[in-house]
Amino acid sequence: MNEHDSERMTGILESRGCSPVSDAAGADMVILNTCSIREKAEQKFYSELGRLKSLKAANPNLKIAVAGCIAQQEGSNILSRAPHVDMVFGPSDIARLSTLVTQKLSKKCPVVDTAGDPEYHRKRIPVTRADKLKAWVSIMYGCDNFCTYCVVPYLRGRERSRRPEDIVEEVRDLGLRGYKEVTLLGQNVNSYGKGLDDRTTFPDLLRMVNDIPGIERVRFVTSHPRDLSEALINAIRDLPKVCEAVHLPVQSGSSRVLAAMNRRYGREDYLEKVRKLRDAVPQIALTTDIIVGFPGETDEDFDLTIRLLEEVRHDGLFAFKYSKRPGTAALKLDGHLPEVIKEKRLEQLLTVQKRITAEKNRDLIGTTQEILIDGFSKKGGTLTGRTRGNKAVNLPASSALIGSLVRVRITRAGVNSLTGQLCE
Ligand code: SAM
Ligand code: SF4
Repeated sequence: MNEHDSERMTGILESRGCSPVSDAAGADMVILNTCSIREKAEQKFYSELGRLKSLKAANPNLKIAVAGCIAQQEGSNILSRAPHVDMVFGPSDIARLSTLVTQKLSKKCPVVDTAGDPEYHRKRIPVTRADKLKAWVSIMYGCDNFCTYCVVPYLRGRERSRRPEDIVEEVRDLGLRGYKEVTLLGQNVNSYGKGLDDRTTFPDLLRMVNDIPGIERVRFVTSHPRDLSEALINAIRDLPKVCEAVHLPVQSGSSRVLAAMNRRYGREDYLEKVRKLRDAVPQIALTTDIIVGFPGETDEDFDLTIRLLEEVRHDGLFAFKYSKRPGTAALKLDGHLPEVIKEKRLEQLLTVQKRITAEKNRDLIGTTQEILIDGFSKKGGTLTGRTRGNKAVNLPASSALIGSLVRVRITRAGVNSLTGQLCE
C-alpha cells in the first residue's frame, strides 16, 4: 500500500514538471514515505531522517518531506525532533501534495497537513507506476476493524470504498496500456462496498475487473478471515483471471488470543474457512500473517499457533514479534512478554514454516504451471515469472517472452523459488 502511495506521489510531482533522480544527493526534494505498523519501521525512519540532515547541510535548498503513517501519527511533533523537515503530510492528504509543495516554496516555515481529505477516495490521482506489466490498484482506504494491536484505523482512518466505476476505468486504462496483472488493494478487501450507493460487493467488483480486456490476471490483498464469504470463494473458483492465491492472515492459532486481538473469529472458524476454500479450489495457494508474543500469549497458546501452521500448511508466512503501538488497546493489556521470548517464538515459527514451504514447493516438481514472465531473474541468464499461486519461477527463455503467459514444467524447487522449463 505504501509503495502504491509512493507511485501516486511520484505521479502528482511528475504532473507538475518534476522528475525523479536516482540519488538523494542530486534531489531538490526528498519525500520519506513512512510506515508505523511496528516500532522497527519507525526507528528506521528516524535514522534515515538523521542521514538526510547532513545532505541538507550541504544543500540548504533541499526540501525534506515526511509522508505516510508516521507523519499522520506525529504531525508537527516531527519538527521538534527534526527541525530540518520542511513538510509533513498524512496518507489521506496525498491528493493535495502539489498544493503543499507550492505553499512550501512560497514560505520559509514548514508546512504540516494531516487533516485528511474526506473525499480522497473519490479523487482521480495521477500515478507513475514502477512496473510496466503489474499494477497496484487501491479499491478502498482505511479500516474499521480495530484489531487491538493495530494503528491502521487510527492513522489511515475509517473504511471508505472507491466507486466501482472509478476502479473499472483505472483498470481498463491499464489494460489498454499493456498491463497484464492487477492487484486490488485494501486493508480488508472482503468488506469492499460498505457505504456505496449501489451496494457493489467485492465478488461483484472481481467480476467487473475479470471482464476487462488485456488484463490476464487479477490478485487482491488483504482478506480478513471473518469476511471471507462463500460468494468470494465461488468468485475465485469461477472467474478465470482471478488467481488461486489468498493472503489470509490468521495472527494466532489460539482462540483466546484471537479474542484478545479483537479478530472476531476463532481457531475453528479459520480452519473451516480454509476447508471451504480448498473444497472449492483445491489448488489454492494460501499465505498468512502471524504475530508472536501478543500480551498474555502462553506457551500453550503459541503451541496452538504452531499446530495451526502444521494443520493448514500455508504456502508462505509473514511473521512478526508483537510491537507496542501508541494509542492501541493492546498496550493496556496485562502480560507483555520479554523480547527474548518473542524472538525465540519467532525463530521457532519460521523454522516450521520454512520446512512446510519447502515441502509444498517440492510437491510442484513435475507439474505444469501457467507463468506470467515479468523480467530477468537476479541470477543472470534466466527469466523470472510467477505462478498463479504467486510463486517465483526462474527459467531459461528468450527475453521476447517478457509479458507473456507461458506453460512451464517445474523441474526444481527451493524455499524461495522454483526452476522450470518451457513446455513445447
Ligand atoms: N489488514 C491486514 C489484516 O488485517 O490482516 C493487514 C494489515 S497490517 C499492515 C500487516 C500485518 O502487520 C498484520 O497482519 C499483522 O500481522 C502485522 N501487525 C500489525 N500491527 C502489529 C503490531 N503492533 N505488532 C506486530 N505486528 C503487527
Ligand atoms: Fe489492522 Fe486489523 Fe484493520 Fe488489518 S484488519 S488493518 S490488522 S485493524
